[in-house]
Amino acid sequence: MTAAPVPDRNRDLAGKVALITGGASGLGLAMTRRFAVRGARVVVLDRDTAAAQALAGIDRATFIACDVCDPDAVDAAFSRAEAEIGPLDIVIANAGISQNSPTLELSFADWRKVMGVNLDGVFLTAQAAGRRMVPRGRGTILLMASMYGVVAAPERIGYCVSKSGVAMMAKALALEWARQGLRVNALAPGYVRTPFLDDLIARGRLDADRLTARMPIGRFIEPEEVADLAAFLASDEASAITGQVAGVDGGWSANGYL
Ligand code: NAD
Repeated sequence: MTAAPVPDRNRDLAGKVALITGGASGLGLAMTRRFAVRGARVVVLDRDTAAAQALAGIDRATFIACDVCDPDAVDAAFSRAEAEIGPLDIVIANAGISQNSPTLELSFADWRKVMGVNLDGVFLTAQAAGRRMVPRGRGTILLMASMYGVVAAPERIGYCVSKSGVAMMAKALALEWARQGLRVNALAPGYVRTPFLDDLIARGRLDADRLTARMPIGRFIEPEEVADLAAFLASDEASAITGQVAGVDGGWSANGYL
Protein backbone atom coordinates (compact mmCIF):
# COMPACT_ATOMS: atom_id res chain seq x y z
CA MET A 1 0.00 0.00 0.00
CA THR A 2 1.42 3.39 -0.95
CA ALA A 3 1.32 6.22 1.57
CA ALA A 4 -1.05 9.13 0.90
CA PRO A 5 0.76 12.16 -0.51
CA VAL A 6 1.81 14.67 2.14
CA PRO A 7 -0.09 17.95 1.52
CA ASP A 8 1.87 21.15 1.03
CA ARG A 9 0.56 23.23 3.94
CA ASN A 10 1.76 26.40 2.29
CA ARG A 11 -0.68 25.88 -0.56
CA ASP A 12 -3.28 23.45 0.78
CA LEU A 13 -6.17 25.89 0.22
CA ALA A 14 -5.14 26.74 -3.36
CA GLY A 15 -8.17 27.10 -5.62
CA LYS A 16 -10.61 27.36 -2.72
CA VAL A 17 -12.92 30.33 -2.21
CA ALA A 18 -13.46 31.32 1.42
CA LEU A 19 -15.88 33.87 2.89
CA ILE A 20 -15.08 35.24 6.35
CA THR A 21 -17.43 37.53 8.30
CA GLY A 22 -15.78 40.07 10.57
CA GLY A 23 -12.64 39.43 8.55
CA ALA A 24 -11.31 42.99 8.76
CA SER A 25 -10.04 42.81 12.35
CA GLY A 26 -8.59 40.50 14.99
CA LEU A 27 -9.19 36.80 14.50
CA GLY A 28 -11.02 37.32 11.22
CA LEU A 29 -8.11 39.30 9.80
CA ALA A 30 -5.62 36.66 10.93
CA MET A 31 -7.73 33.98 9.22
CA THR A 32 -8.01 36.11 6.08
CA ARG A 33 -4.21 36.46 5.95
CA ARG A 34 -3.59 32.79 6.69
CA PHE A 35 -6.14 31.51 4.17
CA ALA A 36 -4.81 33.85 1.47
CA VAL A 37 -1.22 32.76 2.14
CA ARG A 38 -2.32 29.15 1.81
CA GLY A 39 -3.73 29.90 -1.63
CA ALA A 40 -7.44 30.63 -1.06
CA ARG A 41 -9.29 33.58 -2.50
CA VAL A 42 -10.96 35.28 0.47
CA VAL A 43 -14.08 37.42 0.56
CA VAL A 44 -14.39 39.47 3.74
CA LEU A 45 -17.81 40.60 4.93
CA ASP A 46 -17.62 43.28 7.60
CA ARG A 47 -19.79 46.19 8.70
CA ASP A 48 -16.71 48.30 9.43
CA THR A 49 -15.81 49.78 6.05
CA ALA A 50 -12.90 51.75 7.52
CA ALA A 51 -11.31 48.52 8.74
CA ALA A 52 -11.30 47.27 5.16
CA GLN A 53 -7.98 49.10 4.79
CA ALA A 54 -6.47 46.31 6.88
CA LEU A 55 -6.89 44.09 3.83
CA ALA A 56 -4.64 46.27 1.67
CA GLY A 57 -1.65 44.25 0.63
CA ILE A 58 -3.31 40.88 1.13
CA ASP A 59 -3.33 39.12 -2.23
CA ARG A 60 -6.61 37.52 -3.22
CA ALA A 61 -8.73 39.29 -0.55
CA THR A 62 -11.92 41.16 -1.46
CA PHE A 63 -14.06 43.32 0.84
CA ILE A 64 -17.87 43.52 0.84
CA ALA A 65 -19.61 45.80 3.34
CA CYS A 66 -22.29 43.86 5.18
CA ASP A 67 -24.05 43.82 8.53
CA VAL A 68 -24.49 40.12 9.32
CA CYS A 69 -27.67 40.90 11.31
CA ASP A 70 -29.49 41.97 8.13
CA PRO A 71 -30.88 38.93 6.26
CA ASP A 72 -31.23 40.73 2.91
CA ALA A 73 -27.72 42.21 3.16
CA VAL A 74 -26.23 38.79 3.96
CA ASP A 75 -28.01 37.16 1.03
CA ALA A 76 -26.96 39.95 -1.33
CA ALA A 77 -23.34 39.78 -0.15
CA PHE A 78 -23.19 35.99 -0.66
CA SER A 79 -24.68 36.34 -4.14
CA ARG A 80 -22.20 39.07 -5.02
CA ALA A 81 -19.27 37.05 -3.65
CA GLU A 82 -20.22 34.02 -5.74
CA ALA A 83 -20.87 36.11 -8.87
CA GLU A 84 -17.56 38.00 -8.61
CA ILE A 85 -15.20 35.41 -7.11
CA GLY A 86 -16.78 31.98 -7.55
CA PRO A 87 -18.67 29.25 -5.68
CA LEU A 88 -17.86 29.29 -1.99
CA ASP A 89 -15.96 26.29 -0.60
CA ILE A 90 -15.42 27.64 2.93
CA VAL A 91 -17.58 29.98 5.02
CA ILE A 92 -16.50 31.25 8.42
CA ALA A 93 -19.14 32.96 10.58
CA ASN A 94 -16.69 34.87 12.75
CA ALA A 95 -18.26 38.30 13.37
CA GLY A 96 -19.12 38.70 17.02
CA ILE A 97 -19.26 41.25 19.82
CA SER A 98 -18.51 41.10 23.52
CA GLN A 99 -20.90 41.73 26.40
CA ASN A 100 -19.35 42.43 29.72
CA SER A 101 -21.56 43.83 32.48
CA PRO A 102 -23.37 42.61 35.59
CA THR A 103 -26.65 40.91 34.70
CA LEU A 104 -28.64 43.23 36.98
CA GLU A 105 -27.39 46.18 34.92
CA LEU A 106 -27.82 44.58 31.50
CA SER A 107 -30.57 46.29 29.50
CA PHE A 108 -32.84 44.21 27.31
CA ALA A 109 -31.58 46.23 24.33
CA ASP A 110 -27.98 45.18 25.09
CA TRP A 111 -29.07 41.55 25.56
CA ARG A 112 -30.78 41.69 22.13
CA LYS A 113 -27.70 43.36 20.63
CA VAL A 114 -25.33 40.55 21.59
CA MET A 115 -27.87 37.91 20.53
CA GLY A 116 -28.35 39.81 17.28
CA VAL A 117 -24.72 39.66 16.20
CA ASN A 118 -23.52 36.49 17.91
CA LEU A 119 -26.55 34.26 17.26
CA ASP A 120 -28.72 35.82 14.52
CA GLY A 121 -25.66 36.87 12.51
CA VAL A 122 -24.06 33.43 12.75
CA PHE A 123 -27.36 31.74 11.90
CA LEU A 124 -27.94 33.96 8.85
CA THR A 125 -24.37 33.40 7.65
CA ALA A 126 -24.60 29.62 8.09
CA GLN A 127 -28.01 29.49 6.41
CA ALA A 128 -26.79 31.57 3.45
CA ALA A 129 -23.82 29.19 3.16
CA GLY A 130 -26.04 26.09 3.39
CA ARG A 131 -28.45 27.40 0.76
CA ARG A 132 -25.60 27.54 -1.72
CA MET A 133 -23.49 24.56 -0.60
CA VAL A 134 -26.19 21.93 0.00
CA PRO A 135 -27.38 21.88 -3.64
CA ARG A 136 -23.73 21.51 -4.75
CA GLY A 137 -23.12 18.70 -2.25
CA ARG A 138 -19.88 20.14 -0.86
CA GLY A 139 -18.53 22.81 1.45
CA THR A 140 -17.25 23.43 4.93
CA ILE A 141 -18.54 25.92 7.48
CA LEU A 142 -16.81 27.16 10.63
CA LEU A 143 -18.69 29.02 13.34
CA MET A 144 -16.81 31.18 15.83
CA ALA A 145 -17.89 30.11 19.31
CA SER A 146 -15.67 30.67 22.35
CA MET A 147 -14.25 28.95 25.38
CA TYR A 148 -17.08 30.87 27.10
CA GLY A 149 -19.59 28.79 25.19
CA VAL A 150 -18.08 25.76 26.94
CA VAL A 151 -17.30 27.07 30.44
CA ALA A 152 -18.94 30.13 32.02
CA ALA A 153 -17.76 33.42 33.50
CA PRO A 154 -19.75 35.90 35.60
CA GLU A 155 -21.06 39.16 34.13
CA ARG A 156 -21.05 37.84 30.58
CA ILE A 157 -24.49 36.20 30.43
CA GLY A 158 -25.27 37.32 26.89
CA TYR A 159 -21.84 36.40 25.59
CA CYS A 160 -21.74 32.96 27.25
CA VAL A 161 -25.29 32.03 26.25
CA SER A 162 -24.83 33.21 22.68
CA LYS A 163 -21.56 31.32 22.27
CA SER A 164 -22.97 28.09 23.71
CA GLY A 165 -25.74 28.53 21.14
CA VAL A 166 -23.14 28.86 18.39
CA ALA A 167 -21.47 25.63 19.55
CA MET A 168 -24.80 23.81 19.43
CA MET A 169 -25.57 25.35 16.03
CA ALA A 170 -22.43 23.72 14.66
CA LYS A 171 -23.49 20.31 15.97
CA ALA A 172 -27.08 20.64 14.74
CA LEU A 173 -26.07 21.82 11.26
CA ALA A 174 -23.34 19.18 11.03
CA LEU A 175 -25.96 16.46 11.56
CA GLU A 176 -28.45 18.07 9.20
CA TRP A 177 -26.04 18.51 6.31
CA ALA A 178 -23.53 15.65 6.74
CA ARG A 179 -25.17 13.39 4.13
CA GLN A 180 -25.20 16.33 1.71
CA GLY A 181 -21.42 16.54 1.84
CA LEU A 182 -21.03 19.52 4.17
CA ARG A 183 -18.90 19.73 7.30
CA VAL A 184 -19.75 22.18 10.08
CA ASN A 185 -17.50 22.81 13.08
CA ALA A 186 -17.15 25.46 15.76
CA LEU A 187 -13.96 27.07 17.03
CA ALA A 188 -13.73 27.77 20.75
CA PRO A 189 -10.79 30.10 21.39
CA GLY A 190 -9.72 31.22 24.83
CA TYR A 191 -8.28 34.68 25.44
CA VAL A 192 -6.72 35.79 22.15
CA ARG A 193 -4.76 39.02 21.83
CA THR A 194 -6.99 41.04 19.45
CA PRO A 195 -8.52 44.56 19.44
CA PHE A 196 -11.60 42.89 21.02
CA LEU A 197 -9.50 41.82 24.05
CA ASP A 198 -7.36 44.98 24.12
CA ASP A 199 -10.55 47.06 24.36
CA LEU A 200 -11.82 45.07 27.37
CA ILE A 201 -8.43 45.39 29.09
CA ALA A 202 -8.25 49.14 28.34
CA ARG A 203 -11.74 49.66 29.81
CA GLY A 204 -10.72 47.83 32.97
CA ARG A 205 -13.15 45.01 32.28
CA LEU A 206 -10.39 42.42 32.24
CA ASP A 207 -7.19 42.10 34.26
CA ALA A 208 -4.46 40.93 31.87
CA ASP A 209 -2.07 39.77 34.62
CA ARG A 210 -4.71 37.69 36.42
CA LEU A 211 -5.84 36.10 33.19
CA THR A 212 -2.40 35.07 31.99
CA ALA A 213 -1.57 33.76 35.47
CA ARG A 214 -4.56 31.39 35.20
CA MET A 215 -3.66 30.36 31.66
CA PRO A 216 -1.81 27.01 31.77
CA ILE A 217 0.44 28.12 28.88
CA GLY A 218 1.15 31.36 30.80
CA ARG A 219 0.30 33.79 27.99
CA PHE A 220 -2.51 34.95 25.73
CA ILE A 221 -3.18 33.06 22.51
CA GLU A 222 -2.05 34.66 19.25
CA PRO A 223 -4.65 35.16 16.48
CA GLU A 224 -2.46 33.14 14.10
CA GLU A 225 -2.78 30.11 16.40
CA VAL A 226 -6.54 30.19 15.93
CA ALA A 227 -6.12 30.81 12.20
CA ASP A 228 -3.97 27.68 11.91
CA LEU A 229 -6.70 25.55 13.47
CA ALA A 230 -9.30 27.15 11.20
CA ALA A 231 -7.16 26.44 8.13
CA PHE A 232 -6.76 22.81 9.14
CA LEU A 233 -10.49 22.34 9.80
CA ALA A 234 -11.33 24.00 6.48
CA SER A 235 -8.85 21.84 4.56
CA ASP A 236 -9.46 18.48 2.96
CA GLU A 237 -7.23 16.94 5.64
CA ALA A 238 -10.13 17.36 8.09
CA SER A 239 -12.52 15.41 5.85
CA ALA A 240 -13.93 13.28 8.72
CA ILE A 241 -14.18 16.09 11.26
CA THR A 242 -17.66 17.55 11.64
CA GLY A 243 -19.93 18.57 14.52
CA GLN A 244 -16.97 19.40 16.73
CA VAL A 245 -16.34 22.32 19.05
CA ALA A 246 -12.59 22.66 18.67
CA GLY A 247 -10.86 24.39 21.55
CA VAL A 248 -7.75 26.54 21.19
CA ASP A 249 -7.58 27.97 24.68
CA GLY A 250 -4.09 27.30 26.04
CA GLY A 251 -5.54 24.74 28.45
CA TRP A 252 -7.91 27.23 30.16
CA SER A 253 -11.07 25.09 30.02
CA ALA A 254 -9.18 22.07 31.38
CA ASN A 255 -7.91 24.06 34.34
CA GLY A 256 -9.92 23.44 37.51
CA TYR A 257 -7.07 24.46 39.78
CA LEU A 258 -6.35 28.21 40.03
P1 NAD B 1 -12.71 42.13 16.74
O1 NAD B 1 -13.60 43.11 17.42
O2 NAD B 1 -11.25 42.44 16.62
O3 NAD B 1 -13.25 41.82 15.29
C1 NAD B 1 -14.61 41.56 15.06
C2 NAD B 1 -14.97 42.00 13.65
O4 NAD B 1 -16.37 41.69 13.44
C3 NAD B 1 -14.78 43.50 13.42
O5 NAD B 1 -14.12 43.73 12.19
C4 NAD B 1 -16.23 44.03 13.38
O6 NAD B 1 -16.37 45.16 12.54
C5 NAD B 1 -16.96 42.82 12.83
N1 NAD B 1 -18.39 42.85 13.15
C6 NAD B 1 -18.96 43.00 14.37
N2 NAD B 1 -20.29 43.02 14.25
C7 NAD B 1 -20.57 42.85 12.92
C8 NAD B 1 -21.78 42.79 12.18
N3 NAD B 1 -22.97 42.92 12.77
N4 NAD B 1 -21.69 42.60 10.85
C9 NAD B 1 -20.49 42.48 10.24
N5 NAD B 1 -19.31 42.56 10.89
C10 NAD B 1 -19.37 42.74 12.22
O7 NAD B 1 -12.96 40.75 17.51
P2 NAD B 1 -12.11 39.37 17.57
O8 NAD B 1 -11.45 39.28 18.86
O9 NAD B 1 -11.33 39.18 16.32
O10 NAD B 1 -13.33 38.35 17.64
C11 NAD B 1 -13.79 37.68 16.49
C12 NAD B 1 -14.68 36.55 16.94
O11 NAD B 1 -13.95 35.69 17.80
C13 NAD B 1 -15.91 36.98 17.75
O12 NAD B 1 -17.01 36.17 17.40
C14 NAD B 1 -15.50 36.73 19.18
O13 NAD B 1 -16.60 36.50 20.02
C15 NAD B 1 -14.65 35.50 19.01
N6 NAD B 1 -13.70 35.25 20.09
C16 NAD B 1 -12.73 36.15 20.41
C17 NAD B 1 -11.85 35.86 21.44
C18 NAD B 1 -10.75 36.80 21.83
O14 NAD B 1 -10.12 36.56 22.88
N7 NAD B 1 -10.45 37.82 21.08
C19 NAD B 1 -11.98 34.67 22.15
C20 NAD B 1 -12.99 33.77 21.81
C21 NAD B 1 -13.84 34.07 20.76
